[in-house]
Amino acid sequence: MSNIVAIVGRPNVGKSTLYNRLTESRKAIVDDFSGVTRDRHYGQAEWTDRQFTVIDTGGYVAHSDDVFEAAIREQVVIAIEEASVILFVVDVTTGITDLDDDIAGLLRKSKKPVFVVVNKVDNNNQHTEASVFYALGLGEIYNISSMTGSGTGDLLDEVIKHFDDEPLEDNTRPKYAIIGRPNVGKSSIINSLIGRDRNIVTPIAGTTRDSIHIHYNQYGHDFMLVDTAGMRKKTKVKENIEFYSVMRTIKALEEADVVILMIDAVEGMESQDINIFHLAEKNKKGIVIVVNKWDLIEKNNKTVKVFEDMIRQKIAPFTDVPIVFTSVLEKQRVLKVIDVANQVYQNRARKISTSKLNEVMLPIIENYPPPSTKGKYVKIKYATQIAGTSPMFAFFCNLPQYVKEPYYRFIENKLRENFDLSGAPVQVWFRQK
Ligand code: GDP
Ligand code: GDP
Repeated sequence: MSNIVAIVGRPNVGKSTLYNRLTESRKAIVDDFSGVTRDRHYGQAEWTDRQFTVIDTGGYVAHSDDVFEAAIREQVVIAIEEASVILFVVDVTTGITDLDDDIAGLLRKSKKPVFVVVNKVDNNNQHTEASVFYALGLGEIYNISSMTGSGTGDLLDEVIKHFDDEPLEDNTRPKYAIIGRPNVGKSSIINSLIGRDRNIVTPIAGTTRDSIHIHYNQYGHDFMLVDTAGMRKKTKVKENIEFYSVMRTIKALEEADVVILMIDAVEGMESQDINIFHLAEKNKKGIVIVVNKWDLIEKNNKTVKVFEDMIRQKIAPFTDVPIVFTSVLEKQRVLKVIDVANQVYQNRARKISTSKLNEVMLPIIENYPPPSTKGKYVKIKYATQIAGTSPMFAFFCNLPQYVKEPYYRFIENKLRENFDLSGAPVQVWFRQK
Protein backbone atom coordinates (compact mmCIF):
# COMPACT_ATOMS: atom_id res chain seq x y z
CA MET A 1 0.00 0.00 0.00
CA SER A 2 3.00 2.13 0.09
CA ASN A 3 2.99 4.74 -2.65
CA ILE A 4 6.04 6.93 -2.56
CA VAL A 5 6.87 9.28 -5.40
CA ALA A 6 10.52 10.37 -5.38
CA ILE A 7 11.61 13.52 -7.22
CA VAL A 8 15.18 13.18 -8.44
CA GLY A 9 17.40 15.33 -10.65
CA ARG A 10 20.35 17.65 -10.45
CA PRO A 11 20.21 20.96 -8.55
CA ASN A 12 18.17 23.92 -9.84
CA VAL A 13 15.96 22.05 -12.27
CA GLY A 14 12.96 22.86 -10.07
CA LYS A 15 12.53 19.78 -7.87
CA SER A 16 11.48 21.67 -4.78
CA THR A 17 9.15 23.93 -6.77
CA LEU A 18 7.47 20.81 -8.13
CA TYR A 19 7.41 19.29 -4.65
CA ASN A 20 5.68 22.37 -3.29
CA ARG A 21 3.15 22.31 -6.07
CA LEU A 22 2.34 18.62 -5.57
CA THR A 23 2.02 18.92 -1.81
CA GLU A 24 0.61 22.42 -2.09
CA SER A 25 2.63 23.38 0.90
CA ARG A 26 1.59 26.89 1.75
CA LYS A 27 5.08 27.73 2.81
CA ALA A 28 6.91 27.70 -0.51
CA ILE A 29 10.51 27.13 0.34
CA VAL A 30 12.14 27.85 -2.98
CA ASP A 31 15.32 29.74 -2.72
CA ASP A 32 17.82 30.90 -5.29
CA PHE A 33 20.75 30.73 -2.91
CA SER A 34 22.74 27.56 -2.87
CA GLY A 35 22.97 25.41 0.19
CA VAL A 36 19.81 26.73 1.76
CA THR A 37 18.33 24.21 4.13
CA ARG A 38 14.75 23.50 3.32
CA ASP A 39 13.05 22.12 6.32
CA ARG A 40 10.44 19.95 4.68
CA HIS A 41 11.37 17.39 2.07
CA TYR A 42 8.48 15.01 2.17
CA GLY A 43 4.75 15.37 2.47
CA GLN A 44 1.35 14.13 1.54
CA ALA A 45 -0.18 14.76 -1.86
CA GLU A 46 -3.47 13.86 -3.47
CA TRP A 47 -4.69 13.50 -7.02
CA THR A 48 -8.23 12.46 -7.90
CA ASP A 49 -8.75 10.97 -4.44
CA ARG A 50 -5.48 9.02 -4.52
CA GLN A 51 -3.19 9.76 -1.59
CA PHE A 52 0.54 9.44 -1.88
CA THR A 53 3.76 10.64 -0.29
CA VAL A 54 6.16 12.82 -2.24
CA ILE A 55 9.81 13.07 -1.35
CA ASP A 56 12.11 15.76 -2.70
CA THR A 57 15.60 14.31 -2.82
CA GLY A 58 17.11 17.73 -3.39
CA GLY A 59 16.66 18.60 0.24
CA TYR A 60 19.20 16.03 1.32
CA VAL A 61 22.32 17.29 -0.37
CA ALA A 62 23.84 20.70 0.13
CA HIS A 63 24.61 22.21 -3.27
CA SER A 64 28.00 23.35 -2.07
CA ASP A 65 29.14 19.87 -1.14
CA ASP A 66 32.08 18.77 -3.30
CA VAL A 67 30.79 15.21 -3.37
CA PHE A 68 27.39 16.29 -4.48
CA GLU A 69 27.44 14.55 -7.85
CA ALA A 70 28.28 11.27 -6.15
CA ALA A 71 25.61 11.95 -3.56
CA ILE A 72 23.00 12.58 -6.23
CA ARG A 73 23.87 9.39 -8.07
CA GLU A 74 23.55 7.46 -4.83
CA GLN A 75 20.20 9.09 -4.11
CA VAL A 76 18.94 7.94 -7.45
CA VAL A 77 19.98 4.38 -6.59
CA ILE A 78 18.20 4.58 -3.22
CA ALA A 79 15.12 6.05 -4.87
CA ILE A 80 15.09 3.22 -7.40
CA GLU A 81 15.12 0.71 -4.55
CA GLU A 82 12.66 2.39 -2.25
CA ALA A 83 10.19 4.52 -4.19
CA SER A 84 7.18 3.30 -6.15
CA VAL A 85 7.49 5.92 -8.88
CA ILE A 86 10.40 8.17 -9.83
CA LEU A 87 10.03 11.63 -11.32
CA PHE A 88 13.25 12.56 -13.08
CA VAL A 89 13.19 16.33 -13.42
CA VAL A 90 15.20 18.07 -16.14
CA ASP A 91 15.33 21.71 -17.22
CA VAL A 92 14.23 22.80 -20.71
CA THR A 93 16.30 25.97 -20.47
CA THR A 94 19.60 24.10 -20.14
CA GLY A 95 19.01 21.00 -22.23
CA ILE A 96 20.70 17.72 -21.33
CA THR A 97 23.77 18.11 -19.11
CA ASP A 98 26.40 15.48 -18.30
CA LEU A 99 24.88 14.84 -14.90
CA ASP A 100 21.44 14.40 -16.52
CA ASP A 101 23.02 11.79 -18.78
CA ASP A 102 24.57 10.00 -15.78
CA ILE A 103 21.30 9.91 -13.91
CA ALA A 104 19.44 8.70 -16.99
CA GLY A 105 21.96 5.86 -17.27
CA LEU A 106 21.11 4.69 -13.75
CA LEU A 107 17.39 5.05 -14.34
CA ARG A 108 17.45 3.10 -17.59
CA LYS A 109 18.57 0.05 -15.57
CA SER A 110 15.70 0.40 -13.12
CA LYS A 111 12.54 -1.65 -13.25
CA LYS A 112 10.55 1.02 -11.41
CA PRO A 113 8.35 3.39 -13.39
CA VAL A 114 10.36 6.48 -14.33
CA PHE A 115 8.84 9.69 -15.68
CA VAL A 116 11.00 12.21 -17.50
CA VAL A 117 9.60 15.54 -16.36
CA VAL A 118 10.78 18.45 -18.48
CA ASN A 119 10.32 21.47 -16.25
CA LYS A 120 10.21 25.22 -16.93
CA VAL A 121 8.15 24.71 -20.07
CA ASP A 122 6.38 27.98 -19.35
CA ASN A 123 5.19 28.75 -22.88
CA ASN A 124 4.26 27.01 -26.13
CA ASN A 125 7.55 27.60 -27.99
CA GLN A 126 9.39 25.60 -25.37
CA HIS A 127 7.38 22.46 -26.16
CA THR A 128 9.46 22.04 -29.31
CA GLU A 129 12.71 22.55 -27.41
CA ALA A 130 11.65 19.94 -24.86
CA SER A 131 11.73 17.17 -27.44
CA VAL A 132 15.54 16.92 -27.12
CA PHE A 133 14.92 15.01 -23.88
CA TYR A 134 13.69 11.97 -25.77
CA ALA A 135 17.42 11.40 -26.27
CA LEU A 136 17.65 10.35 -22.61
CA GLY A 137 16.23 7.03 -23.74
CA LEU A 138 13.60 6.84 -21.02
CA GLY A 139 10.54 6.95 -23.20
CA GLU A 140 7.76 9.48 -23.00
CA ILE A 141 8.50 12.99 -21.73
CA TYR A 142 6.13 15.13 -19.69
CA ASN A 143 6.39 18.87 -20.20
CA ILE A 144 5.42 20.91 -17.20
CA SER A 145 5.87 24.28 -15.61
CA SER A 146 6.15 23.83 -11.87
CA MET A 147 5.86 27.57 -11.55
CA THR A 148 2.38 27.77 -13.12
CA GLY A 149 1.34 24.16 -12.61
CA SER A 150 0.67 23.57 -16.29
CA GLY A 151 1.13 19.95 -17.36
CA THR A 152 1.20 18.57 -13.82
CA GLY A 153 -2.33 17.17 -14.10
CA ASP A 154 -1.50 15.10 -17.18
CA LEU A 155 1.63 13.87 -15.43
CA LEU A 156 -0.24 12.83 -12.28
CA ASP A 157 -2.93 11.06 -14.31
CA GLU A 158 -0.19 8.73 -15.54
CA VAL A 159 1.71 8.51 -12.24
CA ILE A 160 -1.24 7.21 -10.22
CA LYS A 161 -1.73 4.35 -12.68
CA HIS A 162 1.44 2.83 -11.24
CA PHE A 163 0.29 2.78 -7.63
CA ASP A 164 -0.02 -0.42 -5.72
CA ASP A 165 -3.41 -0.96 -4.13
CA GLU A 166 -2.93 -4.44 -2.89
CA PRO A 167 -3.29 -4.80 0.84
CA LEU A 168 -0.53 -6.54 2.75
CA GLU A 169 -0.91 -10.27 3.05
CA ASP A 170 -1.30 -10.37 6.81
CA ASN A 171 -4.19 -8.09 7.57
CA THR A 172 -5.49 -9.84 10.62
CA ARG A 173 -3.06 -8.58 13.25
CA PRO A 174 -2.48 -4.97 14.25
CA LYS A 175 0.65 -3.49 12.73
CA TYR A 176 2.76 -1.10 14.77
CA ALA A 177 5.78 0.83 13.55
CA ILE A 178 8.33 2.24 15.97
CA ILE A 179 9.61 5.39 14.36
CA GLY A 180 12.01 8.09 15.42
CA ARG A 181 15.33 9.75 14.81
CA PRO A 182 18.55 7.77 15.10
CA ASN A 183 19.62 6.99 18.68
CA VAL A 184 16.29 7.56 20.39
CA GLY A 185 16.17 3.90 21.43
CA LYS A 186 14.18 2.09 18.72
CA SER A 187 16.45 -0.96 18.54
CA SER A 188 16.67 -1.06 22.31
CA ILE A 189 12.90 -1.19 22.77
CA ILE A 190 12.52 -3.85 20.10
CA ASN A 191 15.26 -5.92 21.72
CA SER A 192 13.68 -5.44 25.09
CA LEU A 193 10.34 -6.62 23.74
CA ILE A 194 11.54 -9.64 21.86
CA GLY A 195 14.33 -10.35 24.34
CA ARG A 196 16.82 -13.07 23.73
CA ASP A 197 14.06 -15.50 22.94
CA ARG A 198 14.38 -15.29 19.20
CA ASN A 199 11.74 -18.00 18.85
CA ILE A 200 8.98 -15.47 19.01
CA VAL A 201 10.57 -13.52 16.19
CA THR A 202 9.29 -14.52 12.82
CA PRO A 203 10.44 -12.28 10.03
CA ILE A 204 7.56 -12.63 7.63
CA ALA A 205 8.99 -13.11 4.19
CA GLY A 206 7.02 -12.60 1.07
CA THR A 207 5.39 -9.35 2.00
CA THR A 208 6.15 -7.89 -1.36
CA ARG A 209 7.64 -4.81 0.25
CA ASP A 210 11.01 -5.46 1.69
CA SER A 211 10.47 -4.16 5.21
CA ILE A 212 10.86 -6.62 8.02
CA HIS A 213 7.79 -7.57 9.98
CA ILE A 214 8.29 -9.11 13.38
CA HIS A 215 5.48 -11.23 14.74
CA TYR A 216 5.09 -10.67 18.47
CA ASN A 217 2.91 -13.06 20.42
CA GLN A 218 3.46 -12.90 24.17
CA TYR A 219 1.76 -11.74 27.37
CA GLY A 220 -1.60 -11.73 25.66
CA HIS A 221 -0.43 -9.50 22.83
CA ASP A 222 -0.46 -10.57 19.21
CA PHE A 223 0.71 -8.01 16.71
CA MET A 224 3.22 -7.26 13.97
CA LEU A 225 6.09 -4.82 14.41
CA VAL A 226 7.16 -3.09 11.24
CA ASP A 227 10.85 -2.80 11.89
CA THR A 228 12.68 0.35 10.91
CA ALA A 229 15.42 0.09 13.50
CA GLY A 230 16.94 -2.98 11.90
CA MET A 231 16.92 -1.39 8.49
CA ARG A 232 20.27 0.23 8.14
CA LYS A 233 22.14 0.49 4.97
CA LYS A 234 25.63 1.63 4.39
CA THR A 235 25.80 4.64 2.15
CA LYS A 236 28.95 6.18 0.88
CA VAL A 237 27.68 9.68 1.36
CA LYS A 238 26.91 10.97 4.83
CA GLU A 239 23.94 13.12 3.80
CA ASN A 240 22.16 10.15 2.30
CA ILE A 241 21.88 8.34 5.63
CA GLU A 242 19.06 10.70 6.48
CA PHE A 243 17.49 10.39 3.04
CA TYR A 244 17.52 6.63 3.30
CA SER A 245 16.16 6.59 6.83
CA VAL A 246 13.36 9.00 5.93
CA MET A 247 12.43 6.85 2.96
CA ARG A 248 12.27 3.77 5.16
CA THR A 249 10.35 5.61 7.87
CA ILE A 250 7.71 6.72 5.39
CA LYS A 251 7.31 3.18 4.11
CA ALA A 252 6.97 1.72 7.60
CA LEU A 253 4.52 4.45 8.50
CA GLU A 254 2.36 3.72 5.48
CA GLU A 255 2.24 0.02 6.33
CA ALA A 256 1.37 0.49 10.00
CA ASP A 257 -1.97 0.94 11.71
CA VAL A 258 -0.41 2.66 14.69
CA VAL A 259 2.76 4.70 14.65
CA ILE A 260 4.81 4.72 17.83
CA LEU A 261 6.76 7.94 17.57
CA MET A 262 9.74 7.76 19.86
CA ILE A 263 11.50 10.92 20.96
CA ASP A 264 14.52 11.52 23.15
CA ALA A 265 13.63 13.07 26.53
CA VAL A 266 16.84 15.09 26.56
CA GLU A 267 16.43 16.48 23.05
CA GLY A 268 12.67 16.94 23.10
CA MET A 269 10.33 17.12 20.14
CA GLU A 270 12.18 18.56 17.16
CA SER A 271 11.03 19.67 13.73
CA GLN A 272 11.81 16.26 12.21
CA ASP A 273 9.63 14.57 14.84
CA ILE A 274 6.84 17.03 14.18
CA ASN A 275 7.07 16.37 10.42
CA ILE A 276 6.70 12.64 11.01
CA PHE A 277 3.82 13.29 13.39
CA HIS A 278 1.98 15.30 10.71
CA LEU A 279 2.67 12.68 8.08
CA ALA A 280 1.17 10.02 10.35
CA GLU A 281 -1.80 12.26 11.02
CA LYS A 282 -2.37 12.97 7.32
CA ASN A 283 -2.12 9.25 6.60
CA LYS A 284 -4.85 8.72 9.22
CA LYS A 285 -2.70 6.48 11.36
CA GLY A 286 -3.11 5.94 15.06
CA ILE A 287 -0.35 7.66 17.02
CA VAL A 288 1.40 7.08 20.34
CA ILE A 289 4.22 9.35 21.47
CA VAL A 290 6.94 7.72 23.54
CA VAL A 291 9.39 9.90 25.44
CA ASN A 292 12.36 7.62 26.01
CA LYS A 293 15.49 7.99 28.18
CA TRP A 294 13.29 9.31 30.95
CA ASP A 295 15.98 8.10 33.36
CA LEU A 296 18.20 10.95 32.17
CA ILE A 297 15.77 13.65 33.27
CA GLU A 298 15.85 15.21 36.70
CA LYS A 299 12.28 15.06 37.87
CA ASN A 300 9.88 16.56 40.34
CA ASN A 301 6.11 16.18 40.58
CA LYS A 302 5.52 18.67 37.75
CA THR A 303 7.97 17.31 35.19
CA VAL A 304 5.56 14.97 33.41
CA LYS A 305 3.00 17.74 33.05
CA VAL A 306 5.59 20.20 31.76
CA PHE A 307 6.76 17.68 29.13
CA GLU A 308 3.24 16.80 28.10
CA ASP A 309 2.26 20.45 27.70
CA MET A 310 5.38 21.14 25.68
CA ILE A 311 4.65 18.26 23.32
CA ARG A 312 0.95 19.00 22.95
CA GLN A 313 1.73 22.61 22.10
CA LYS A 314 3.95 21.41 19.27
CA ILE A 315 1.48 18.93 17.80
CA ALA A 316 -1.59 21.18 18.04
CA PRO A 317 -4.37 21.03 17.01
CA PHE A 318 -4.35 17.20 17.14
CA THR A 319 -3.40 16.95 20.81
CA ASP A 320 -5.54 14.01 21.92
CA VAL A 321 -2.60 11.62 21.67
CA PRO A 322 -1.32 9.37 24.45
CA ILE A 323 2.19 10.09 25.69
CA VAL A 324 4.19 7.39 27.47
CA PHE A 325 7.41 8.10 29.37
CA THR A 326 9.84 5.21 29.18
CA SER A 327 13.28 4.17 30.14
CA VAL A 328 14.14 1.21 28.01
CA LEU A 329 17.48 1.08 29.80
CA GLU A 330 15.79 0.63 33.18
CA LYS A 331 12.95 -1.42 31.66
CA GLN A 332 10.34 1.10 32.71
CA ARG A 333 6.94 1.10 31.00
CA VAL A 334 8.10 -0.82 27.93
CA LEU A 335 5.05 -3.06 27.96
CA LYS A 336 2.87 -0.05 28.65
CA VAL A 337 3.85 1.25 25.21
CA ILE A 338 2.32 -1.88 23.70
CA ASP A 339 -0.79 -1.66 25.87
CA VAL A 340 -1.30 1.94 24.78
CA ALA A 341 -0.62 1.14 21.11
CA ASN A 342 -3.22 -1.58 21.34
CA GLN A 343 -5.69 0.85 22.92
CA VAL A 344 -5.08 3.34 20.09
CA TYR A 345 -5.54 0.55 17.55
CA GLN A 346 -8.95 -0.13 19.06
CA ASN A 347 -9.83 3.56 19.20
CA ARG A 348 -8.96 3.95 15.54
CA ALA A 349 -11.21 1.01 14.69
CA ARG A 350 -14.01 2.19 16.97
CA LYS A 351 -17.54 2.00 15.61
CA ILE A 352 -20.18 4.13 17.26
CA SER A 353 -23.79 3.26 16.58
CA THR A 354 -25.92 5.94 14.95
CA SER A 355 -28.35 5.92 17.86
CA LYS A 356 -25.64 6.39 20.48
CA LEU A 357 -23.95 9.06 18.39
CA ASN A 358 -27.14 11.07 18.03
CA GLU A 359 -28.17 10.56 21.62
CA VAL A 360 -24.91 12.16 22.72
CA MET A 361 -24.25 14.74 20.01
CA LEU A 362 -27.69 16.20 19.25
CA PRO A 363 -28.22 17.72 22.73
CA ILE A 364 -24.70 19.19 22.59
CA ILE A 365 -25.46 20.71 19.18
CA GLU A 366 -28.80 22.02 20.41
CA ASN A 367 -27.07 23.80 23.29
CA TYR A 368 -24.37 25.18 21.07
CA PRO A 369 -25.49 25.38 17.44
CA PRO A 370 -23.25 26.74 14.68
CA PRO A 371 -23.30 30.55 14.79
CA SER A 372 -25.53 32.14 12.15
CA THR A 373 -23.89 33.60 9.05
CA LYS A 374 -25.58 36.47 7.16
CA GLY A 375 -28.80 35.74 8.99
CA LYS A 376 -28.76 32.07 7.96
CA TYR A 377 -29.06 29.31 10.52
CA VAL A 378 -27.51 25.88 10.11
CA LYS A 379 -29.80 23.13 11.34
CA ILE A 380 -28.10 19.84 12.04
CA LYS A 381 -30.55 16.94 11.82
CA TYR A 382 -28.53 13.87 12.61
CA ALA A 383 -25.08 12.31 12.49
CA THR A 384 -23.69 8.98 11.41
CA GLN A 385 -20.30 7.32 11.33
CA ILE A 386 -18.99 6.52 7.87
CA ALA A 387 -17.27 3.21 7.22
CA GLY A 388 -13.49 3.49 6.94
CA THR A 389 -10.20 2.55 8.53
CA SER A 390 -10.26 5.56 10.89
CA PRO A 391 -13.19 7.33 12.56
CA MET A 392 -15.16 9.56 10.17
CA PHE A 393 -18.44 11.22 10.98
CA ALA A 394 -20.98 12.94 8.76
CA PHE A 395 -23.35 15.53 10.21
CA PHE A 396 -26.35 16.12 8.00
CA CYS A 397 -27.68 19.65 7.84
CA ASN A 398 -29.38 22.18 5.59
CA LEU A 399 -26.43 24.54 4.87
CA PRO A 400 -23.09 22.72 5.22
CA GLN A 401 -21.22 25.52 3.45
CA TYR A 402 -21.95 27.87 6.36
CA VAL A 403 -20.23 25.71 8.95
CA LYS A 404 -16.87 27.25 9.77
CA GLU A 405 -13.59 25.74 10.93
CA PRO A 406 -14.03 26.50 14.68
CA TYR A 407 -17.26 24.53 14.71
CA TYR A 408 -15.57 21.54 13.11
CA ARG A 409 -13.04 21.69 15.97
CA PHE A 410 -15.83 22.01 18.52
CA ILE A 411 -17.57 18.91 17.19
CA GLU A 412 -14.34 16.93 17.01
CA ASN A 413 -13.52 17.86 20.61
CA LYS A 414 -16.97 16.82 21.80
CA LEU A 415 -16.64 13.51 19.97
CA ARG A 416 -13.29 12.98 21.68
CA GLU A 417 -14.71 13.94 25.10
CA ASN A 418 -17.58 11.51 24.81
CA PHE A 419 -16.13 8.56 22.96
CA ASP A 420 -12.68 7.16 23.48
CA LEU A 421 -10.80 8.21 20.36
CA SER A 422 -7.45 9.07 21.89
CA GLY A 423 -4.57 8.71 19.41
CA ALA A 424 -6.94 8.21 16.48
CA PRO A 425 -7.33 10.85 13.78
CA VAL A 426 -10.97 11.92 13.54
CA GLN A 427 -12.62 13.39 10.45
CA VAL A 428 -15.79 15.42 10.63
CA TRP A 429 -17.93 16.35 7.64
CA PHE A 430 -21.04 18.41 7.28
CA ARG A 431 -23.27 17.31 4.46
CA GLN A 432 -26.44 18.41 2.80
CA LYS A 433 -29.32 16.37 4.10
P1 GDP B 1 15.86 22.31 -7.20
O1 GDP B 1 17.24 22.68 -6.79
O2 GDP B 1 15.87 21.27 -8.28
O3 GDP B 1 14.99 21.93 -6.04
O4 GDP B 1 15.23 23.61 -7.90
P2 GDP B 1 14.26 24.74 -7.30
O5 GDP B 1 12.88 24.23 -7.13
O6 GDP B 1 14.92 25.34 -6.12
O7 GDP B 1 14.23 25.75 -8.53
C1 GDP B 1 15.40 26.35 -9.05
C2 GDP B 1 15.03 27.63 -9.74
O8 GDP B 1 14.19 27.36 -10.88
C3 GDP B 1 14.24 28.59 -8.86
O9 GDP B 1 14.69 29.89 -9.13
C4 GDP B 1 12.82 28.43 -9.34
O10 GDP B 1 12.05 29.59 -9.16
C5 GDP B 1 13.01 28.12 -10.82
N1 GDP B 1 11.89 27.35 -11.37
C6 GDP B 1 11.33 26.23 -10.86
N2 GDP B 1 10.31 25.80 -11.62
C7 GDP B 1 10.21 26.65 -12.66
C8 GDP B 1 9.34 26.77 -13.82
O11 GDP B 1 8.43 25.95 -14.01
N3 GDP B 1 9.58 27.78 -14.66
C9 GDP B 1 10.57 28.69 -14.46
N4 GDP B 1 10.71 29.66 -15.35
N5 GDP B 1 11.38 28.63 -13.39
C10 GDP B 1 11.22 27.64 -12.50
P1 GDP C 1 17.99 3.68 17.63
O1 GDP C 1 19.02 4.30 16.74
O2 GDP C 1 16.75 4.54 17.70
O3 GDP C 1 17.67 2.26 17.30
O4 GDP C 1 18.59 3.73 19.13
P2 GDP C 1 19.30 2.57 19.96
O5 GDP C 1 18.30 1.61 20.48
O6 GDP C 1 20.45 2.03 19.18
O7 GDP C 1 19.83 3.40 21.23
C1 GDP C 1 20.79 4.43 21.10
C2 GDP C 1 21.52 4.60 22.41
O8 GDP C 1 20.64 5.05 23.45
C3 GDP C 1 22.13 3.29 22.92
O9 GDP C 1 23.40 3.58 23.46
C4 GDP C 1 21.17 2.85 24.01
O10 GDP C 1 21.80 2.09 25.00
C5 GDP C 1 20.70 4.18 24.57
N1 GDP C 1 19.37 4.09 25.18
C6 GDP C 1 18.26 3.49 24.68
N2 GDP C 1 17.23 3.62 25.54
C7 GDP C 1 17.69 4.32 26.60
C8 GDP C 1 17.09 4.79 27.83
O11 GDP C 1 15.91 4.58 28.12
N3 GDP C 1 17.89 5.51 28.65
C9 GDP C 1 19.20 5.78 28.37
N4 GDP C 1 19.88 6.50 29.25
N5 GDP C 1 19.79 5.35 27.24
C10 GDP C 1 19.04 4.63 26.36
